[in-house]
Amino acid sequence: MNIALIAHDKKKDDLVRFAVAYKPIFEKHTLFATGTTGLRIMEATELPVHRFQSGPLGGDQEIGAKIAKNEMDAIFFFRDPLTAQPHEPDVTALVRLCDVYAIPLATNMGTAEILVRGLERGDLDWRYIVKESSDQENGNN
Ligand code: PGA
Repeated sequence: MNIALIAHDKKKDDLVRFAVAYKPIFEKHTLFATGTTGLRIMEATELPVHRFQSGPLGGDQEIGAKIAKNEMDAIFFFRDPLTAQPHEPDVTALVRLCDVYAIPLATNMGTAEILVRGLERGDLDWRYIVKESSDQENGNN
């Protein structure tokens, strides 16, 4: 599955620790991230991470584009609700697209724990069916 990891600055340490703790699960998937978050996770886990632009420079929108193309299966987005973000419209747009396409989204550690365990347990396997049928509709099979 394609998994996106994003953390605002004050939440980066939390997401890095989370990625390290669940490395045995994350290593079975293809990881994507915004620029700085991705670098931190690569350094800490030694897992390959496809890095987009930094969030304020368009990274959230790049991940949003993957969601719109049905190419993202789960999002771990550790938001900082106590600090104003210059790219707040991008953050809102990303969350909105997750709702448009019913993409599982964890915006805090509590939900992230459930999502990562669900991922491991196969709770997100319906995504394979969704992607298969959209591939067929697009003539990719
Ligand atoms: P960053 O972007 O990983 O490049 O810091 C995340 C964000 O702030 O949206």
